[in-house]
Amino acid sequence: MALFFSFLFIIIVSVVIVRYAFKNIKDTLAQKYYVETIQEYNIFLNKDKVFLKSISEYLSNSNVTLKAYLENNKQDIINTYLSLYKSLFENDLIDEMHFFKTPVENFVAFANLKLAEINLSNARKDVLLVNTSLKPAVYFYICRNYPGLRATYPIIYNYKIYGSVSIGSNLINFKSMFEKLNMPTTVYLNDKLLKHSLQSKKYSFYARYPLYKGYRVIGKNYNINFDKKYELQADKLYVIIPIKDLFKKTIAYIVVKRNFSDALKIVRINAIKNFIFDFMVFFIIFGLFIVLFRYIYKRFNELQNILELIKNKKFKKLPSKVKEKDEFDIFKNNLIDVSKNLSLYINLLTNEMDYYSKKAYIDALTSVYNRNFLEEKAEEITEKFKLTKEALGVIIFDIDDFKKINDTYGHDVGDLVLSELALNIKKLLRKEDMFIRYGGEEFVILFPHTFFKDVITIAQKIRRTVEVLKIKTPEKFFHITISIGVSEFSKDDETIFDVIKRADKKLYEAKRSGKNRVIY
Ligand code: GH3
Ligand code: MG
Ligand code: MG
Repeated sequence: MALFFSFLFIIIVSVVIVRYAFKNIKDTLAQKYYVETIQEYNIFLNKDKVFLKSISEYLSNSNVTLKAYLENNKQDIINTYLSLYKSLFENDLIDEMHFFKTPVENFVAFANLKLAEINLSNARKDVLLVNTSLKPAVYFYICRNYPGLRATYPIIYNYKIYGSVSIGSNLINFKSMFEKLNMPTTVYLNDKLLKHSLQSKKYSFYARYPLYKGYRVIGKNYNINFDKKYELQADKLYVIIPIKDLFKKTIAYIVVKRNFSDALKIVRINAIKNFIFDFMVFFIIFGLFIVLFRYIYKRFNELQNILELIKNKKFKKLPSKVKEKDEFDIFKNNLIDVSKNLSLYINLLTNEMDYYSKKAYIDALTSVYNRNFLEEKAEEITEKFKLTKEALGVIIFDIDDFKKINDTYGHDVGDLVLSELALNIKKLLRKEDMFIRYGGEEFVILFPHTFFKDVITIAQKIRRTVEVLKIKTPEKFFHITISIGVSEFSKDDETIFDVIKRADKKLYEAKRSGKNRVIY
C-alpha cells in the first residue's frame, strides 16, 4: 500500500515537473523564435534602407541630375532614368522614384511604371525635412500613393540646395520578403492614416481589405493583440512588429507567423529522454541507498539482538561466532566473546553468592538451619500462612539430660550426639519441612501444609527414632531420648515465635511429666 502511494506520488510529481518543463521549453522557444524573427526583420529593413539610400544618393549626385536641375530641364532625367526605374520596379525592388525641387515641388515622378504628375507639396514632410536640413533621411511614410519606406537624398551643388531624390518601396514588400522564407506574414495598415494621407483612388484600393481594430488586414487576420511583442497561440507564435513613421505614429504592424510545433516536438522528446534518464539514475542511486541502508540496519540488528540477550542474561542463546568477513563480523565476534566471559563471571558470582547466603543460614555442626534463618524468614513465613490460611505445624524438642552426656563423655561426644541426631531426624523429613537448631540442644521443625494430627504423628515417629538410635562413641554405644512440644499456626498468631512459644510450653510439660514424650 505504502509502495503504491509512493509510486503514485512520484508519478504525480513527475507529471508536474514535466508539464512545468514543457511550459518553460515553449516559452524559451517562443523567445528564441521572436528574437530570430526580429533579427530577420532588421536584416530586411537594413538591406532595404541601404539599397534605397544608395540609389537616391547615386541619383542625387549624378551629372545627369545636376545638369537637369541647373538647366531646369527634366527631359534628360526622364530619358536616362525611366528604364532604370522600370527595371527596379519590375523586380519589386522599388515602387517610386521622385525628383523634388525645393521646398517640396514635384520635378520628375516615376510611379506605377510611368511618369506621374502628382502634387505632393503638403504630403511629403520627410522631403521638406531633407531639403531644409540638407541631410539624407530614411523613413516609413504614408504619402499620396502608398505606405512605404522612403530614402531621400539632397541635391546640392556649389553649397546650394536644388532639391532631393526620394526612392520608396511599399511596406507590403516585407510580407513577400518574410514569405520567401516560409514565414506567413500579414501587414496591418492604419486605416485612419491611410484615409487621411492617400489620394482617394489609392485609398479605395486599400479599403477593399477587411478592417481589424482600425487596421486594414493585408493577408490572413490572426486576431492578435497589438500591444504585445509576440503572442503565443497553441504552438504558433505571432511576432508583432510595429512600424512608425516620421511623426512616431504607428502606421502599420507587420505580424509574422512562426509555427514551431516540429521544433517543439523534437525538444520535448529530448526533454522526456533526459528526464527518463535522470529519473532512472535517481532510482538506481535511491535503490542502492535503500539496499545499503537495509544492510546496515540488518547488521546493527544482529548486534542489537546480542545486546538484548545480554540484557536479559540469556547467555545460552548467544549465537556462535561467525566467520569474519568484515569489521562488523570482528565486532560481533568480540561482543560474543565479551558476553560469554561475562556469563562465566556472572555464574561464578551467583554460585559464590548462593554458597555464602546458604552458609549464613546453616548451622556448622548439624547442617540444619540456624536460628538466624528463622529470625530472617520469620516474617515471610508468617505472612505467607496468614494469607493462604494453610496449615503449618510446629514442634520443638530438647535432648533429655544432655548435661550428663557432656559431663560423662566430654564435650566432643556431646557434639557428636548433636550431629548424629540431626542427621537421623533429617531422614524422616520432607523437602519443604524446615529443620532449625533453635538453641544449644534445642531444635524446632516447621511442617508446612500439614494437619495438626499428622504433626503429632511425625513427632511421635521422631521421638521413637531417637529412642532406638545407637550413638557410637569411641568407648561404647549408648541411647538418648528427646522431649517434644507440638503446636500449630492459628489465626491469632502474630509471628511464628508465638507458635513456637506455645510448643515450648508443651515441651516444658513433657520434661516435667517425665521426659521422652510428645505433648500437644
Ligand atoms: P533436661 O532433660 O532438663 O533438658 O536436662 P539437660 O541436662 O539437658 O539440661 P539443659 O537442657 O539445661 O542442659 C543443656 C546442656 O547442653 C548445657 C550445655 O552444656 C549443653 N550444650 C549446649 N550446647 C552444646 C553444644 O554445642 N555441645 C555440647 N557438647 N554441649 C552443649
Ligand atoms: Mg536444653
Ligand atoms: Mg536438655
